[in-house]
Amino acid sequence: MSEVPSNANEGCPGVGSENAGKTSGCAGCPNQKSCASGEKPPPDVDIPKIQDRFRHIKHKILILSGKGGVGKSTMTANLARALAADPTKQVAILDIDICGPSQPRMMGVEGEQVHQSADGWTPVSVADNLTVMSIAFLLGDKNDAVIWRGARKNGMIKQFLKDVDWGEVDYLLIDTPPGTSDEHISVVQFLLQAGPLDGALIVSTPQEISLLDVRKEVSFCRKTNVPILGVVENMAKFVCPNCSHTTLLFPSSTGGAETMCKEGGLDLLAQLPLEPALAEALDKGEDFFEKHPDSALVKSFLSLADKIKNNLGKQ
Ligand code: SF4
Repeated sequence: MSEVPSNANEGCPGVGSENAGKTSGCAGCPNQKSCASGEKPPPDVDIPKIQDRFRHIKHKILILSGKGGVGKSTMTANLARALAADPTKQVAILDIDICGPSQPRMMGVEGEQVHQSADGWTPVSVADNLTVMSIAFLLGDKNDAVIWRGARKNGMIKQFLKDVDWGEVDYLLIDTPPGTSDEHISVVQFLLQAGPLDGALIVSTPQEISLLDVRKEVSFCRKTNVPILGVVENMAKFVCPNCSHTTLLFPSSTGGAETMCKEGGLDLLAQLPLEPALAEALDKGEDFFEKHPDSALVKSFLSLADKIKNNLGKQ
């Protein structure tokens, strides 16, 4: 993958490519002059600011999915709850899904205001040790579509990263839009320059159509040198709340995530069941962990959190 500076325009052909600084996508890019003359662009002045913001974040984890609709944001919200079950750990969510930010609703803080102080934007508090920062807090009407493109979208991502006053954080979960889109590339570029990124957690469902996109996501991580912490298979089965009969919702023709992980040398960290009560709790912004503390799903999320902590400890 050719080098794409963190402040490049959408569709950057890569500095060092023969089209650098010359394509229509380069128009307005701050690096156009240097790229067109074959020079290396000057360093992005915002990177030191982002590095400073991240100084007190111990672990930064990207939550990725190759495909939409696999439950990535649901997984992020509940993994955050599971990590925050340890009151000695400070957990935060950065909702960078600029086209469909859903964390405020899922975490029960929709409509809250982000406070701005001399130190920057303060993330919204969900619990004593759990906070959320989302583009949704900065939008006027929650029903408005976000149709920003290119530089403006990238600018917003950068603003998140350089202006949020996170304070001391043990685990920052970054909820990204599905696919290997510009948001991914922007956030990965910024984060990689701002210090080590602990890795990515990839969410999938068992069908081959979803796994195909996961393989692209794996390839994206390897090209951008983002370590893969593991794969979570969502909606692996449905357990009837009345009779406890288990049904495979998406019978896999290719062995599902288990086979894909074996072939790709990846850790399959969890196979989570579909739980209708979870969808209801998230729609209402309720804490599923508090409402259903003994459910199998809560235990699965707590076990997933333990595995991630162990994996991070080994790195
Ligand atoms: S001018 Fe900007 S968009 Fe074009 S190649 Fe250089 S960095 Fe990329």
